[in-house]
Amino acid sequence: MKVPFFDYSKLFQLNHDSYLKIFLEVANRGAFIMQSDVHEFENELAKYLSAKRVVGVGNATDGLEIAWMAVGLNDGDEVICSAHTMLATASAIKMAGGTPVPVDIGDDGLISPTAITDAITDRTVGISPTQLNGRSCDMEKIATIAEEHDLVIVEDAAQSLGAKFNGKNVGTFGRFAAISFFPAKVLGSFGDAGAVVVNDDQLYESIYQLHDHGRTSSGEVRSWGRNSRLDNLQAAFLSFGLSRHEDVIERRRQIAQQYQCRLETIDQIKLPPAPNSDSRYFDVYQNYEIRARSRDKLRLFLSDSGVGTLIQWGGKAIHQWAGLGLERYSLPEADAFFEECIMLPMNNFITDDEVDYVCDVIHSFYKKH
Ligand SMILES: *Cc1c(COP(=O)(O)O)cnc(C)c1O
Repeated sequence: MKVPFFDYSKLFQLNHDSYLKIFLEVANRGAFIMQSDVHEFENELAKYLSAKRVVGVGNATDGLEIAWMAVGLNDGDEVICSAHTMLATASAIKMAGGTPVPVDIGDDGLISPTAITDAITDRTVGISPTQLNGRSCDMEKIATIAEEHDLVIVEDAAQSLGAKFNGKNVGTFGRFAAISFFPAKVLGSFGDAGAVVVNDDQLYESIYQLHDHGRTSSGEVRSWGRNSRLDNLQAAFLSFGLSRHEDVIERRRQIAQQYQCRLETIDQIKLPPAPNSDSRYFDVYQNYEIRARSRDKLRLFLSDSGVGTLIQWGGKAIHQWAGLGLERYSLPEADAFFEECIMLPMNNFITDDEVDYVCDVIHSFYKKH
């Protein structure tokens, strides 16, 4: 049996006819840039999230950068982010003129609220929590810290569309949030695409202008801006995907439960929190990231058995990349995590039998190791 980590062609093939129909309809209308499909998708997404407004952008990295530009970072302003995140969380802060400060992670791999508090200085202006692997951070603790120290929150919600904390959607906790529609994300498009969630009505205009040459929605230039618009065709495909998103989440949670039942007895691995293990969290399992003893050997064994895996971010926490000026941070929890972390196949294309096979292979590996 072969279980690829993520079969990109299936994203299209599973709904081949619907997507072709959407393509023909949009293309025949000649609707390619900022047409009704973008506005409709933005409204649908805002409604889905119970958010004030949404602005479609080119990708989530742009979205984070635009969000920090709208916040307005001055030279020396520090923003705290997790060491276990895509470099994009930090690079957006940097490119918007601020200084990213990586901090350590907690037991579930997400940013540690205690580490946030410890990292606050006179120059700290914000926190950018990453809603990692389809799971929310403890936003109650983080919101309290932000309030006490008067800090802005911009959520990196790239991986977590549909996840909730205390019943509230990820993406609606910060002043802004960015969501990614990279093909392998929980809601994937057929290329680059993203969105900024705007939770303050008065700041909608600044995000809107930043994403389209400083123009207002009526076309008047009011400020400096850039071009990072959501592609109209992608928006049409995404509307279709969003209408089926709850089914995708349901399937991902089923798979997580299956991994939980089959793997929880293995002492050498540590699983992510199970779907119903804590009523405050509703996780959407963008990824199923485990910690595993003899990780590299396990990965090779899985690969030899036809199972694709991935080590997140090319195997490094953000402070571990040389040359970015973040090497001076000492973050032992993140360092230990990256010695052991590995992601198992997790997407709505794989079958129960395939998940069972992955588990069988892991069991046979640990009988010998
Ligand atoms: C995918 C991802 C991004 C970047 O998203 P793009 O749309 O590819 O720019 C940022 N942060 C996290 C946590 C991600 O997983």
